Amino acid sequence: MASLEHMTSLEQQYADLQASGLTLDLTRGKPSPSQLDLSNPLLALPGEGDFRDASGTDLRNYGGADGLPELRAIFGELLQIPSDQLLAYGNASLAIMHDTIVQALLVGVPGGDGPWRDVPDVAVLCPVPGYDRHFTILESLGVRMIPVPFVDGRLDLDTIRSLVASDPSIRGMWCVPMYSNPTGVTYTVDEVEALVGMETAAPDFRLFWDNAYAVHHLTEAEPLPLDVLGMAERAGHPERPLVYASTAKITFPGAGVAFFGGSRVNVEWMRARTSAQTIGPDKLNQLRHLRFFGDAEGVRRLMRKHRAIIAPRFAAVERILGERLTGVADWTHPTGGYFVNLEVPRGTASVAVALAAAAGVALTPAGSAFPYRDDPEDSNIRIAPTFPSPDDLEAAIEALCICVLLAVERSN
Ligand code: PMP
Repeated sequence: MASLEHMTSLEQQYADLQASGLTLDLTRGKPSPSQLDLSNPLLALPGEGDFRDASGTDLRNYGGADGLPELRAIFGELLQIPSDQLLAYGNASLAIMHDTIVQALLVGVPGGDGPWRDVPDVAVLCPVPGYDRHFTILESLGVRMIPVPFVDGRLDLDTIRSLVASDPSIRGMWCVPMYSNPTGVTYTVDEVEALVGMETAAPDFRLFWDNAYAVHHLTEAEPLPLDVLGMAERAGHPERPLVYASTAKITFPGAGVAFFGGSRVNVEWMRARTSAQTIGPDKLNQLRHLRFFGDAEGVRRLMRKHRAIIAPRFAAVERILGERLTGVADWTHPTGGYFVNLEVPRGTASVAVALAAAAGVALTPAGSAFPYRDDPEDSNIRIAPTFPSPDDLEAAIEALCICVLLAVERSN
C-alpha cells in the first residue's frame, strides 16, 4: 500500500510537471550566453590595420599552412606539445579527426601496411560511455566500433591490451584523456604509459587523442596535460598518438581554432595530406585569438572566468541529484569538462528520457554515448549543465529526477 501511495505521488508529481509547460534543453554541451560574452572582445579583433604576425607576414593572403606560430606556441605550452609539432587549422577539431580517419582509410598512415580500407573488418576501440560524434564519424565511414566499457570509472586496460595484441584489424582507439565526455575521467600516468607502450597486432595502431577539455578545470586544481608525445616516444611508439584540441569551449564554438599535434613524422604526413585539401587556414581568425589571449596565461585567466560561471551549475546538479536520487542512481562528480554522467537502474534510461521529453525537458537520447546508440544496460543519461540559466537548470534537473524515479517505479 505504501508503495502504491508512493507511486501515486510520483505520478502526481509528473502530472504536475507536465502541466507546468516547461521547455528546457539539457542536450548538448554548449557554453551559456554569459560564457560566450567573456569572448566578445574577439568580435572587434584584430581591428583595421592589424594583419601581420610577428615575422611581418601579411595574414590577409594565402600561405602559412601550419598556422600562426605565436598561437601554436601558446597552445603548445597549454597542451605540452612542442610548437613545431602542433599545427593550427580551421574552426573545428572534429573536422580534423574526421579527415584523419578518411585519409587513413584512403591512403594509410605512416608505418602502416597500406590503406585501412584494405584491412578486413577494420575496427576502432571505443571506451564507453563516450562522445557520440566520435562514433558518428566511424559509423558514417563504415569503420567497425568495438565498445570497451569503463570499469569503476577507469579504462579497462586488461581488455584493451588483450584486444589490440590479438587482433590486427583494430587500428585505433578514441581517447578523451582529460575530463572525458561524458564520464569526466582523466587518464592517469600509468594508464597513458600502458596505452602508449602496449603491444599491438596492427603495425600502425593510433590513439585518437582528443584533448578537447585540457584547460577546462572546474576546481582550483589545474593539472597539466600529460606529455603523451614524449611518453610515446620513450615507449618506442612515437607515431601512436594523434592529438586534437580546439578553442571551441574556450571562445566561440564553431568560430574558434582547432589544433593537430603529433610526432614529426605524423605532422609531416598531416601537412602533406592537408596540402591537397587547402592552401591554408583562416589566419585572421587565428590572429584575432592571438590578440585576445596574449599568452598562455591569458587562456588560463579566461578559463577561470568560465569556471566561475559554470562551477555553481555543476554544484546545483550535484545537490539536486543528491537530494532526490541517492540510493537510486549513481552519478559522476567531475572536476572538469562539460558533463555529469548519470547511471540509472538497468532498463530505465530510455523511459526516463522519454518521460522528460513529454514534460518538455530535452535530454540527449538514451544510448547516445554508445556506438550505434546501443546502451546494452539502458542505464546511461548524459547531463550537460552549462547552457541553461541557473533557474532553468535547477528546474530541468528536478524534473529529470521525477522522471527517473517514475521510470524506476513503473519498471518494478
Ligand atoms: N571533442 C570532444 C570530446 C567534444 O566534447 C567536442 C564538443 N565540444 C568536440 C571534440 C568538438 O570540438 P570542435 O568544435 O573543435 O569540433
